[in-house]
Amino acid sequence: SCLERMDSLDGRIKACLEVYAEDAVEEAARIDGLVASGEHPGPLAGVPVLLKDNICVKGKRTTCGSRMLESWVSPYDASVVEMLRRAGAVIMGKTNMDEFAMGSSTENSAFFPTSNPWDLARVPGGSSGGSAAAVAAGYVPLALGSDTGGSIRQPAAFCGIHGLKPTYGMVSRYGLVAFASSLDQIGPMARDMGDIALCMEVIGREDPLDATSRSFGSGSFLSMLRNDSLKGLRVGILRGFDDDGVCHEIVKSVLLGARYCQDAGASLEDVTLPVSMGAGLASYYVIAPAEASSNLARFDGVRFGPLGDASSLEEMYREVRSTFGEEVKRRIMVGTYALSSGYYDEYYGRAQRVRAAIREEFRRLFERVDLLICPSSPCLPFLKGEMADDPVSMYLTDAFTLPANLAGVPALSVYAGMSKDKLPLSVQLMAPWGEDRRLVMAGAVLE
Ligand code: GLN
Repeated sequence: SCLERMDSLDGRIKACLEVYAEDAVEEAARIDGLVASGEHPGPLAGVPVLLKDNICVKGKRTTCGSRMLESWVSPYDASVVEMLRRAGAVIMGKTNMDEFAMGSSTENSAFFPTSNPWDLARVPGGSSGGSAAAVAAGYVPLALGSDTGGSIRQPAAFCGIHGLKPTYGMVSRYGLVAFASSLDQIGPMARDMGDIALCMEVIGREDPLDATSRSFGSGSFLSMLRNDSLKGLRVGILRGFDDDGVCHEIVKSVLLGARYCQDAGASLEDVTLPVSMGAGLASYYVIAPAEASSNLARFDGVRFGPLGDASSLEEMYREVRSTFGEEVKRRIMVGTYALSSGYYDEYYGRAQRVRAAIREEFRRLFERVDLLICPSSPCLPFLKGEMADDPVSMYLTDAFTLPANLAGVPALSVYAGMSKDKLPLSVQLMAPWGEDRRLVMAGAVLE
């Protein structure tokens, strides 16, 4: 039924880059066989899952939404893919994304833009826009995305589903093509908080193949769903940002979400994050491009990238690196500049100091409150093309999501109903480092 659904809708939505129809049917039959013979294939037995196309699947193409990797076939499975398989999941294919995960609309895909299933003229958000649109359109109950500055939460918000960016280090990045390694996290996108919990139960584990991964205890995510009381928890409502810049209906959803928390027993408190909201964006847009410029140096035509017929090394670099799209080139230029000698201290060093201050700001915040509630995105899904020529306006829409990546804390975008124009609304919850289970618990209360 998933394949039929994709078949009938993806011509219009264009969420998928590749569908493994035959493999999926075969794998589903194999799992059926296991069940029939009395074996338990695992907690995701037979569950169809789509993956953002920056997550490696053995023997399949991983394009990252880029011409650079158009024909690159991964020789191994990402750790999350191995974990999903072991839990019985059926890998259905790959979803569209902004090239190398740089963007907030999926319009930066080198292949085609994806449409928002609620209004095909609008963007699904990005960079995990394909995963969000696929889940929202009912192709699959669960998809994985990656979030460096909001790329799980913002498309989840735009498409009316839930999306979790786990604590940095909770989910292995082995086999995720790196964008900005100190910020990247893989996480689940689903229509139901139970599916988010189930997925975290499977992928939220330490992996020796990722040196930054670690164990965050073995407490169950699923058991958090049964807890419908937030008694004793203090919820901070983010204030002090420019209310005028945020869609009125989104502000109302946040206040309503806070009320629901209160009804479930939580106490409310107004809080501010002056450093994160004031300088987070500037810090992110130096650090992320700096790390990207270094990570993307491997696409040089020798290790990765198309093999041309250039007659010199210089010519080869020029030819191969011209394959990148506009936004990727812009990031490499900005990042290289920020890291260059003479400018390092002024840009990269300064951005890192701001990042340290943001981490400290969150540490202090979570001494006062147990959860933070705020918008996921300042705006509703915008029209395709509306911001395509204005990268800075696009960057500004990330203001509420970037701080969690800079601080490393977990953050969850929760679907919160429809606007008067029938577009999805959402709220964002954040919790202290490693307290992802608390987020899922609160998410289930708001759901
Ligand atoms: N929109 C942000 C950017 O373009 C975040 C991307 C992401 O989280 N991968 O960098």
